[in-house]
Parts: sequence; C-alpha cells; structure tokens
Amino acid sequence: MKLRSLSIFLVSFLASQFAFAQDTSVEKAAISELPSLLAIYKDIHAHPELSTREEKTAALVAKELRAVGCEVTENFGKYDNPNTKCYGVVGIMKNGAGPTVLVRTDMDALPVEEETGLPYASKVTTKDDNGREVHVMHACGHDAHMAAFIGTARALQRMKDQWSGTIMFIGQPAEEAVGGARALLKGGLYNRFGKPDVALGFHDKHDLQTGHIGVTPGYTYANVDSVDVTVRGIGGHGAYPHKTKDPIVLAAEMINAWQTIASRENNPIDPVVVTVGSIHGGTKHNIISDEVKMQLTIRTYKPEVRDRVLAAIDRIAKGIASAGGVPPDRAPVVSISKDQYTPSTYNNPDLTKRLIQVWKKALGPDNVEIVDPTMGGEDFSEYSLPDHAIPAVDFHIGAVDPEKIAQFKKEGKELPTLHSSKFAPVPEPTIKVGIIGMTSAVLELMKSK
Ligand SMILES: [Zn+2]
Ligand SMILES: [Zn+2]
Repeated sequence: MKLRSLSIFLVSFLASQFAFAQDTSVEKAAISELPSLLAIYKDIHAHPELSTREEKTAALVAKELRAVGCEVTENFGKYDNPNTKCYGVVGIMKNGAGPTVLVRTDMDALPVEEETGLPYASKVTTKDDNGREVHVMHACGHDAHMAAFIGTARALQRMKDQWSGTIMFIGQPAEEAVGGARALLKGGLYNRFGKPDVALGFHDKHDLQTGHIGVTPGYTYANVDSVDVTVRGIGGHGAYPHKTKDPIVLAAEMINAWQTIASRENNPIDPVVVTVGSIHGGTKHNIISDEVKMQLTIRTYKPEVRDRVLAAIDRIAKGIASAGGVPPDRAPVVSISKDQYTPSTYNNPDLTKRLIQVWKKALGPDNVEIVDPTMGGEDFSEYSLPDHAIPAVDFHIGAVDPEKIAQFKKEGKELPTLHSSKFAPVPEPTIKVGIIGMTSAVLELMKSK
C-alpha cells in the first residue's frame, strides 16, 4: 500500500516536474494569475467584437496594461478609410537600458454563430458593414491570445529584476479583416515609439494539443493576394454562339490554365495556391453574357514566386482571351488588390532555434514541436517589414484536448478548424502555456546582464 502510494506520488511528482520543468519563476507567475485571467478570458469570449469595432475589448486590454505600469496609448492607428476609427492599443513597459521587444496580440472576432455549447458561449449579434444582422464569435481564439498577453504583461512586471529594456505591448485590431497591423504602422507606430529589435506573436492552433508549443522555422504563413478578374466577351443569343465571344467559356479555360502555374511553371519545392473563390456571369439560360467576374486568392511564400505567379495570372487571362478572338479593347481586366495584400510571415531561423531551446527548458522537451508551415495568412508579418528586417517569431499554442485529437483521429474525422462555429480553445493549460511561452521568450531576449 505504502509502496503503491509512494510510486503514485513519484509518478505525479515526476510528471509535474517534467511538464513544466525548470523555469519555475515563470510558471509560478503564470499560475498565480490564472484564476483572474480565466475570468477575463470568459468575459472576452462572451463579448466578442467584429474587426475594426474592438472598442470595449481594446479598452479592457488598455486598462490591464495600465494596471501593470505601462504607458498606454489608446485608439492608435490609421486605416486607409478615414471614417473608420482604429482601436489600436500600445503599452510601453520601460525597465532601464536594453533592447526593445514587440509583443502582439490580436483582438477581433468573426461573424460566426457559436455552436460550442460552452456555458460562456457568445450570444452576441450585431449589424455588419452591409447592414446584415450577424452573430459574433471569437472563433479564431483571439480571446485566448489576449488572456495570455495580459498574463505575460503581469508576469514581466513581477519579474522586472530579471530583464532590462523596453517592451512594446501591442493590442492589434482587425487581424481578420487584414489592415490592423498596417493601420498601426501607418499611424506611426515605429516613429512614435521606436523600432523594436525583435517582434513576437502567437496564435492558437486547432490541431495542436494543449500544453504544447508549435513553431515553424522560416516561412510559417503565406503571402496572400486577392485578385479580381473581369473577362469581357461579346454577348448575344445562346443559340448563335458564332456571333459572340463567350466569356463563360473563356473563364472556364482560364480557371484550368491557371492551375498549370503551380504544376508546370513553378519550381515544385516552392508552394503555390491559386484558388478561384468566386465566379459570376450571365443572367439566363439562353443569353451569352458580356462579362464574367472572378475573385481569386493567391498564396505563395517567396517574393519572386509571388511576382511570377501574379504575372502569370494576368498573362494567361489575356492570352486565352486573345486566342479566343476577343478584340484587344475587350481584353480581360486583371487587378491585384494592394489593400488586401498580406505579406508572408517569416520566422527568423536563428531566433526560432534559440527560442525552441528556451521553451524546451520551460515546458519540457516533448512539449515543443516543429510544425508544418501553412498557406494561411497573418498580418503579424507587417511588424518585421520591410523584407523581414526586424527578426520576428510567430509561434503556435496548442489549444485542443489530446484525447479529443485521438478520438477524432480514430473516427477519421477532422477537428473543428479555426473560424469554425465549434472551435474554442481549452482555456487551461492553453492560456498558461501562452504566458510561459511568451514570457520566457521575452526574458531570453532581454535578460539582465
Ligand atoms: Zn482567424
Ligand atoms: Zn486568428
């Protein structure tokens, strides 16, 4: 009996030592803040706000940063549309001489009706920019990011004897709509508060187990380009195709030919995605329409690949129209949106390597994973521009119960992804690991000599 309880004690003791091993001061700081952070998390989760409307969320983040002694600037940032107020929050925590490290959380939620069944599920509805009534949900986990971000600020305030320099805490609006990071930079973030030496961000991950940190050295998110193509033909009667130039047939040819950009024009080791997400043309069975409109999303990593793919979209569209006999003055109009472009996110390989060692020490070596990059987009990349000149790392926080991952795998089902109405991070230990991951990274970069 005694032996058995001793062995149980030993196993649980070792397990706890193993789980969050050596950096006990960081873990202690995280744990002591958890009860109040979980309350903040549930409050934010239940009261989500859409992109560019993060008024109350930003005020909460600002209040929390002020409470830990940051100099806080609210309503910071400038969108292209001067009528849209920017709810950016900048909190500067100064602690003597040393480097400046940027720590970012996003704050916005999505127009999704929550179906998680959680007791603190969002019931919020609002009118979107088109006047439609929509539900609002933190379906991307930005609420968990904010809780971990506040926890990080609290931990670093408590541990001021262990670091020196300046921390630039950023509460960023409009990550989902794209434009939040750019609005902060356009508003003069680096002119007013100084250029950081390093930028750090984190995001929860729908298929990574809670308790784990995941990270990808090098490219981790893609360049995202939005392209609009208008195929202009010559319309007419559906029974007399020879009197027309049918833009629907031309559009169909373009869609297929664009797929050969990835398969035939591109070095296979460079990922490329060409997706036609929207196509509209015509009104009726027996009318050949004058035009077809398409909306494409293009994903790449390297700038030169991006340039080549975008040029190929244009060249192929115009070439097919020309081959189909469309006169030059009716050539397709291909426009690449500058506003909706998100640059690829590049995790500085040396910095990533250094942080992996830090996290392995803080969480245990088995709790840090190298994960595959994705072709998703993240405007965190803006903080390290131009050309990734400011070293940056955007890492993943595991957010899902490992038993749930195993069960879904066994049943051959896909886990609810980010943006799903059924996605919500397990708050604990996800938030704690977020705090430990971010705090230990900052301490490594700013440790007092
Ligand atoms: Zn998202
Ligand atoms: Zn997100």
